[in-house]
Amino acid sequence: MSATIDLTSADARPRPSAPAPAPAKRSLLGLSREALGAALVEAGVPARQAKMRVQQLWHWLYVRGVSDISEMANVSRDLRTLLDEKFEIARPEIVEEQISVDGTRKWLFRFPARGAGRPVEIETVYIPEEGRGTLCVSSQVGCTLTCTFCHTGTQRLVRNLEPGEIVSQLLTARARLGDFPDAATPQGAIVPSEGRLVSNVVMMGMGEPLYNYDNVKSALGVVSDGDGLALSRRRITLSTSGVVPMIPRTGEEMGVMLAISLHAVTDELRDVLVPINKKYPLNELMAACRAYPGLSNARRITFEYVMLKGVNDSLADARQLVRLLHGIPAKINLIPFNPWPGTDYECSDWDQIERFAELVNQAGYASPIRTPRGRDIFAACGQLKSESERMKKGDRLAMEAAIAV
Ligand code: SF4
Repeated sequence: MSATIDLTSADARPRPSAPAPAPAKRSLLGLSREALGAALVEAGVPARQAKMRVQQLWHWLYVRGVSDISEMANVSRDLRTLLDEKFEIARPEIVEEQISVDGTRKWLFRFPARGAGRPVEIETVYIPEEGRGTLCVSSQVGCTLTCTFCHTGTQRLVRNLEPGEIVSQLLTARARLGDFPDAATPQGAIVPSEGRLVSNVVMMGMGEPLYNYDNVKSALGVVSDGDGLALSRRRITLSTSGVVPMIPRTGEEMGVMLAISLHAVTDELRDVLVPINKKYPLNELMAACRAYPGLSNARRITFEYVMLKGVNDSLADARQLVRLLHGIPAKINLIPFNPWPGTDYECSDWDQIERFAELVNQAGYASPIRTPRGRDIFAACGQLKSESERMKKGDRLAMEAAIAV
């Protein structure tokens, strides 16, 4: 699949006689059971039927993975007509799909405009590994933060994603991968996480999930519902740059695994690499980690550490990292930096990454070096979106030049 450019819409100027656009239908995706029941009753479904209808719809949406209301075979035709008039269950358009030789897939998804806004595009990445498959999900379009090593940090925040838009990244990926095998069985049985291609979800795509807290919480509630998508909360990891005040609530209310984008072991350097550190410095961040609800050796916090040559990769940094994490059940993911156009950073030498990993490992912390994945299809999170925007701009300019002639 390749990027498609709609030149007609690029020239869409308001015309006085154009009919007003039809009001967008409400999406049923991402609603909690309670909200789904309330939406059905509001649409005219008798209140006494609501619970049973919610059960039916939940099964079709999240176990069978249908994307069209007409496919809900055991729902009466009248109700399907009513649902179709009032609601939609559409998933995002796949603008682009790239498949790496190592099986990693990266999608550019487009969601329709909301209100007076414009359609938005986000990235979602699937990383297959031995015995598991991880989907890296976005929570915002762009980001307000400006981590200097991160390509998404160069893109301004457009808006938060809705719960349905977060959930539908998982639905679309599973459908695209053929990971709704139960859809073919008459029973439509729930497939356990370990039997699926997408067995894990990480909120580690575009955006800071704790700056879209309510929507992320609602979405993960749907994703972890045992009668639907049924991903155990232990298979869901939320990664934050360090929004300290929201970390306790994340543990108490979402109960998911926590990852911290750490990347530096002194405030001086972290203020540069992860500027939110100026607001919530390392001592506050580490205190919040030590107090994370449910923390134990079986539920460790993952610390992400991107390896930047000559910046944060010395053995002194490794020793300071060990001191910093003292007493925290932790795993450190060492990430070889994936350069993107325009960055001044370089990836650390492999030998240095190994020496760093060994020192941290000898201190008793698991410190896997994350194998670079999908390097042939993309360099960094946020890049596909930028490419798409560059193409659109290029096409717009070409079109304007043609009009001028
Ligand atoms: S690392 Fe995360 S929080 Fe920082 S700029 Fe990138 S997307 Fe935003």
